[in-house]
Amino acid sequence: MTINKASVAQRKLFFALCKDVGLTGDQAKDKAKKKFKLKSFKDIESKQISQLIDKLQERSEKPKEKHNHSFELEAKSNKHSFYSCECGTIVIEPR
Ligand SMILES: [Zn+2]
Repeated sequence: MTINKASVAQRKLFFALCKDVGLTGDQAKDKAKKKFKLKSFKDIESKQISQLIDKLQERSEKPKEKHNHSFELEAKSNKHSFYSCECGTIVIEPR
């Protein structure tokens, strides 16, 4: 089996895109390592990093309003529940 390691250009693009969506270099590496169960980010394969690049490009090109928000409960007060999506959108609902 031949493993094609990710190229330098792919890595550079990956880190640039991560920066666009607000991730640090270390966060980006951790994300990739967890997703593909890699011991080291250096082991990432070409096809794996291109998967990540595709996702990041989708995320940075799509207008924030158009994606399907995944709201998570952030906080509750006596009258309201606050939900937020990772894109920064916040929804307040009466309880
Ligand atoms: Zn959202």
